[in-house]
Amino acid sequence: MVVALNNVNHALEAIPNAYQTALAQYDRAVQHLDIDDNVIEYMRWPRREFTVNFPVRRDDGRVEMFTGYRVHHSTVLGPSKGGIRYSLDVTLDEVRALAMWMTWKCALVQLPYGGAKGGVLVDPKSMSQAELERLTRRYASELIPLMSPHADIPAPDMGTNPQMMAWIMDTYSMTVGYSVPAVVTGKPVNVGGSLGRNEATGRGVIVCMVEALKRQGYTDKENIRIVIQGFGNVGSHAAAYAHDLGYKVTAVSDVNGGIHNPNGLDIPAVRKYYAENRMLKDFPGADNVTNAELLVLPCDVLVPAAMEGQITRNNAPNIKAKMIVEGANGPTTPEADDILDDRGIYLVPDILANAGGVIVSYFEWVQDLQAFFWDEEEVYRQLQRILLRSYDTTANMAEKHGVTMRMAAQMSAIERVGKALMTRGFYP
Ligand code: NAD
Repeated sequence: MVVALNNVNHALEAIPNAYQTALAQYDRAVQHLDIDDNVIEYMRWPRREFTVNFPVRRDDGRVEMFTGYRVHHSTVLGPSKGGIRYSLDVTLDEVRALAMWMTWKCALVQLPYGGAKGGVLVDPKSMSQAELERLTRRYASELIPLMSPHADIPAPDMGTNPQMMAWIMDTYSMTVGYSVPAVVTGKPVNVGGSLGRNEATGRGVIVCMVEALKRQGYTDKENIRIVIQGFGNVGSHAAAYAHDLGYKVTAVSDVNGGIHNPNGLDIPAVRKYYAENRMLKDFPGADNVTNAELLVLPCDVLVPAAMEGQITRNNAPNIKAKMIVEGANGPTTPEADDILDDRGIYLVPDILANAGGVIVSYFEWVQDLQAFFWDEEEVYRQLQRILLRSYDTTANMAEKHGVTMRMAAQMSAIERVGKALMTRGFYP
């Protein structure tokens, strides 16, 4: 018996519309570029949008309907690439925005990919492991007409993890009749995943932060205080790598709030506490803070690594960080960007700062296609090389045009896709 359509969208008012943010950023960036108007209009649109409603049997025998999306924003530079998000806040507009940002991110760091994103309206914490497996496999089978190592390659995002990527790889492989590890990235290493993929996004955020601090003339790393919103894949690995390098991480948070110690948190101990208690609250030797308080704490670097629409015109005037390094996709609205810029707060934009994840996903895909695997040292060396090259491209563009790093990153990326589109021509 089908009992409910699980598409409750409980927090829509609270979060600014991500697609409006993505389009506003695009419209601003193209004003600085000399690109044909037809090309500008073409790149503004998602290429394909797929909506699917599908049943999942719960452990108690009920069948519940779920809604999922997959959007391919662009395939101009190669197969579309982008994560899959499980959250009750997923909307088609959010997925469109995330797909568009993937196009620009892949283009900025010069990967041979277009941009995509997927999402399912579900709270993964409300499901058993067996239910999550059935949901993931059914969603994956619905995506099979779109997905392949040469057409569209998913990866993890908020609410999804390597085990789910293994189920996607297995579902696809069982359908075609042979193993195809390159169809999805972010898999566990024992089924064709890459060493370093789990850590890649958080590590890349810190690689960009270190470069930004160096370029901005900060040398004294023990005195740099870092505040991180989000303690999932991106936030926890960013915190761990920053701590390993000798920086002071003074506050971290998850969806239920955070903890703060102005003298620095013992991040390995915080990770252990979080693994045991599934919460940060009441960590010994730190004060509890709300997410709203955390974003305006005194610090040198703020790393939003949770979700989009967190830094808005309401809190941007009160942010005390000297620098923001965006771990999340789209955490800052365009109005907030202007306020931060006016206040002289330096911002390393998402499509550069969190590109480490898709860069190592690309390495994973290359390794799977070649059936030849690299050691961790090689992964991190190549990751650093590509990130620093992309940082340099962005900083040069910013300097040449007298624009912010966000604008420069978007301009470099849009220009690359636009030129490729002009070379390919409009079909037919
Ligand atoms: P995750 O699900 O592993 O972790 C998300 C974290 O954010 C959790 O700690 C969660 O509790 C917290 N959170 C969720 N909603 C929140 C809210 N309203 N306020 C404060 N905290 C909240 O997800 P992730 O993979 O770490 O992704 C985080 C962000 O980074 C997303 O914007 C994602 O698109 C982006 N990103 C992820 C990757 C990747 O490789 N995983 C790559 C690039 C960008």
